[in-house]
Amino acid sequence: MDTERLSAKDIQQAARIVASGGLLGIPTETVYGLGANGLDEAAVHAIFEAKGRPQDNPLILHIPSADWLERYCGEIPETAWALARRFWPGPLTMILKRKPIVPDAVTAGLDTVGMRCPDCAVTRQVIAAAGVPVAAPSGNASGRPSPTTAAAMLEDMDGKIDAILDDGACAVGVESTIIDLTVDPPRLLRPGGVTLEELEEALGEVAVDEAVRRLMAPGEQPKAPGMKYRHYAPKAPVTVVKGDADMTAGYIVARMGDKSGVICFDEFKGYFRGHPVETIGPRADQAEQARRIFEALRAFDRLEVTDIWAQSPEDIGLGLAVTNRLNKAAGFHIIELP
Ligand code: AMP
Ligand code: MG
Repeated sequence: MDTERLSAKDIQQAARIVASGGLLGIPTETVYGLGANGLDEAAVHAIFEAKGRPQDNPLILHIPSADWLERYCGEIPETAWALARRFWPGPLTMILKRKPIVPDAVTAGLDTVGMRCPDCAVTRQVIAAAGVPVAAPSGNASGRPSPTTAAAMLEDMDGKIDAILDDGACAVGVESTIIDLTVDPPRLLRPGGVTLEELEEALGEVAVDEAVRRLMAPGEQPKAPGMKYRHYAPKAPVTVVKGDADMTAGYIVARMGDKSGVICFDEFKGYFRGHPVETIGPRADQAEQARRIFEALRAFDRLEVTDIWAQSPEDIGLGLAVTNRLNKAAGFHIIELP
């Protein structure tokens, strides 16, 4: 099929594609998503097909405002309304009890559903005009880095979806934070644009799922099924080096091969002359690192490199989300300097 390029003026056309069971690339503040009518079982199956996504990995339902929550969720705790008031529209997905109207294909058979209201006006308008929630995972082919521009999404999805709505580059750059509100204390399943520290301020105690910080052993079941999969990985193997930035740069220089690529902070670009280098922003600018990490990982698939070395940001604040994506891209191959 030909994938149509739409823009913000084409909201009605985009809404018609969703309402009639088609596949639509949607911009959000986090990453581009692969959207379809979340109440239409066949349309949802088409998302899994286009991505090559494992069937046991559920999707997130996107809604234009918090007052749609009760259509799809039951037993909504007061904390959900409080988080919605504080962080929506924004990069926060809440896991809640689902109502029977939500198809099994969306939730992979779980009795819970992930709900999010994205901070992207055109996408909220498309959802409202379609009159149905939009189920969407990230718009990459399964396993690849998530797309933060329409062009990146088209690398994976051109010809496989009906249309993509281009609204420019994503402002956050990593996927939404996922918080499970069906357990006590609430549990962070995936770090993202809303930080753990912000959630703790709003909720008090927050548990952090093991899958955030380490590789799941074969057979282990993380609470967010998606966290067990190899993800975000470029073709060449990645090694993450953690520690003081001057030390990690020196460590990488001493060990890199002729055809090694490097992901580093802007300040250290000069250390790696003659090598393919992707910078992710100044070492102190976590927001910029979040915006650039996926494009950096994607860039190496367009280059000839044997392996990739990466300087690790600190895992506090937004850095927890950036290091989680980088560590997953590396299959948790991490070297910690003293
Ligand atoms: P993506 O944003 O493409 O990474 O896909 C959505 C993520 O949300 C995946 O990691 C899923 O495993 C997770 N997710 C969606 N629904 C649920 C749910 N009901 N319970 C736990 N995790 C979920
Ligand atoms: Mg994804």
